[in-house]
Amino acid sequence: MFRINLEKSAICLLLLLLLKSESLPATASNGDRTQFYHNCRQNCERTNCSADGLEIQEQAISFYGQTIFDRIFGWNCADECSYGCMWRTVFAFMERGWPIPQFYGKWPFLRLFGMQEPASVIFSIANFVMHFRMLRKFRESVRSDSPCYMLGHIFGLVCLNGWIWSAIFHTRDFPITELLDYAFAYSIVLCSFYCMLMRMLHRYSLFLRGVITLACVSYYINYFAYLSTGKFNYSFNMKVNIATGVLNAVGWFVWCQRVRYRRPYYKRILRFYVLFALAMSLELLDFPPILWILDAHSLWHLATVPLVPLYYDFLIEDCQTLLKEKEMTGSYSYFNKDI
Ligand SMILES: [Zn+2]
Repeated sequence: MFRINLEKSAICLLLLLLLKSESLPATASNGDRTQFYHNCRQNCERTNCSADGLEIQEQAISFYGQTIFDRIFGWNCADECSYGCMWRTVFAFMERGWPIPQFYGKWPFLRLFGMQEPASVIFSIANFVMHFRMLRKFRESVRSDSPCYMLGHIFGLVCLNGWIWSAIFHTRDFPITELLDYAFAYSIVLCSFYCMLMRMLHRYSLFLRGVITLACVSYYINYFAYLSTGKFNYSFNMKVNIATGVLNAVGWFVWCQRVRYRRPYYKRILRFYVLFALAMSLELLDFPPILWILDAHSLWHLATVPLVPLYYDFLIEDCQTLLKEKEMTGSYSYFNKDI
């Protein structure tokens, strides 16, 4: 009963997220729309920047005091003006007792070591490290001739790649880093769905699995192409992510239901998806960053770190169990559709 309720609440949370996707970042926000911000930027660029806005004029160099990190991460003069004027606008709002404004769909964040959203960068790296360690554990614990051995690797590598791009995007938000973060974040969601399908069908013919693999890969290439052309549609992208995630979770819930007596370790994957949906609820929150650093999105990246081992521990136990079954039956029948 408790389990069914948890599943329902997980699905409800995902639906709430779907509704929220209607109100995702617009290009302009109340902070950057003000005349105050606009004038500040214009004056700053005219006084301190070269004509192309890239170089800081001689007399302003010491004022900005750029660190080596700022230069490495490409903070040019116009960016410095935007950043400085963002804070001036925020303080002007605060002096008047107005709520903290957003700028271009984002809260104001304190820049640390050249990183635009330092907390999200650090937590993305933490996710990367956790996947790296768990993939190593998977390789140490699972024999290479186990069924689904490759799936663990595909999932691990896709996640490692996704978290690298998440860290890069949160370090510096450019159109290209944004595209790659969103595109590779979806690759993780789609890969989880693919792994679920392949796990369910692992006893089916290589031909069927090959066709599904090809379909997933070509669908992903198509989606990547869609994201990279034209203006980014946040709301649509969020819906596609949630729809794929829901299909994936429903697939696993059905599996858990079917194998609950035979495979007691089903609880691991169930626990993972329920906790994952709860962690996702952080994305529903929207508040100005605590200490100008910790916002809801960074907390969502933090929340996924301890969930990573749950997924891999399930994969490890599942692969080990499937190997035992394979050795016991002696042969590997394609027509044995027992999941
Ligand atoms: Zn992120």
